Amino acid sequence: MTALKDILIRQIATTGPITLADYMTQCLLHPQHGYYTTRDPLGQAGDFTTAPEISQMFGEMLGLCLAQTWLDQGAPQHILLAELGPGRGTLMADILRATRSVPGFHAAAQIHLVEASPTLRAAQAQRLAGHSPVWHDSIADLPEAPLFLIANEFFDALPIRQFTRDDKGWRETMVAVQDGNLIAALSDPAPIQALDHRLADTTPGQIVETCAPAAPIAGEIARRIADHGGATLIFDYGGWRSNGDTFQALENHQHADPFAHPGQADLTAHVDFEALAKSATGVSSSAMTPQGIVLERLGITTRAQSLAKALSGAALESHIAAHRRLTHPQEMGSLFKSLALVPTGAALPPGFDA
Ligand code: SAH
Repeated sequence: MTALKDILIRQIATTGPITLADYMTQCLLHPQHGYYTTRDPLGQAGDFTTAPEISQMFGEMLGLCLAQTWLDQGAPQHILLAELGPGRGTLMADILRATRSVPGFHAAAQIHLVEASPTLRAAQAQRLAGHSPVWHDSIADLPEAPLFLIANEFFDALPIRQFTRDDKGWRETMVAVQDGNLIAALSDPAPIQALDHRLADTTPGQIVETCAPAAPIAGEIARRIADHGGATLIFDYGGWRSNGDTFQALENHQHADPFAHPGQADLTAHVDFEALAKSATGVSSSAMTPQGIVLERLGITTRAQSLAKALSGAALESHIAAHRRLTHPQEMGSLFKSLALVPTGAALPPGFDA
């Protein structure tokens, strides 16, 4: 039994079943036993991999996209180049390398990272040594300035609640204890005002998920971009409007029972891009666009061909596989979506403007 499982079982025995959101928060961010708090989960030896860990081309494309957007907005002199949940710092490092030759961009940009995990903060410090990043616990702590922000696989780690439609309202998925194990159990049905708008497009038995922290974060990003200028690029897996059970655990690159080893598996849920776009008021939002399409529009294939010239054998094979993995509709190309936000009236970032 993991230490966290023991803690949760005792907690539930005392105070009753907890929501999936409470469960996710404790599993991912418990100060001593949380998944992100205690480890670097990324890469081959970890539990999952992400676009920047698959290939440097992901960060290169996003870097050029952000730098062009900065130029389109008149190249403001002092900007925050910020990231939510920067993992190992790989994406930011690739963005910085790709934009080195954009005159004035590095001189204008101060690096700001919003990161909850002390372990990953240490990895980011190492990776971004020389760029003097500043860390924050929350987006609300960022200074007020033009904000050029990226978030890759950040929103999928935020805690969700899950509801199953019923004749009499909604039954919430709760985490309960049975025979010394954690299990999912449905609450009694009750009307839920926040889900009234989903009564029209769901039928009994259907599942919807809500992510309470996503809306205020998207709202805060939008407020800053509206006030100071800038842009946000969000990449994540998900779709337009939550539909169905997407709560999942990954352990050693395999799907796992999310209740078996709390604190030892990555827990995520699909991102509801409609909820993000609707909460980002007072700014222009792009269409939700598949990752593969955005990367193709930004020129990833040309870049892939140019990098391929210096490669042969296994390195070339793996480079070709990485390009395919990032862009192909049967790999990450379609499952992953992206959304860009800019001030009202400003040009959308390249790749998002079709
Ligand atoms: N963007 C990186 C890592 C994705 S993993 C990449 O693409 O490789 C999710 C990241 O979000 C991790 O860095 C994790 O520690 C961070 N994170 C998760 N929940 C968070 C929260 N509530 N506040 C800040 N960071 C969080």
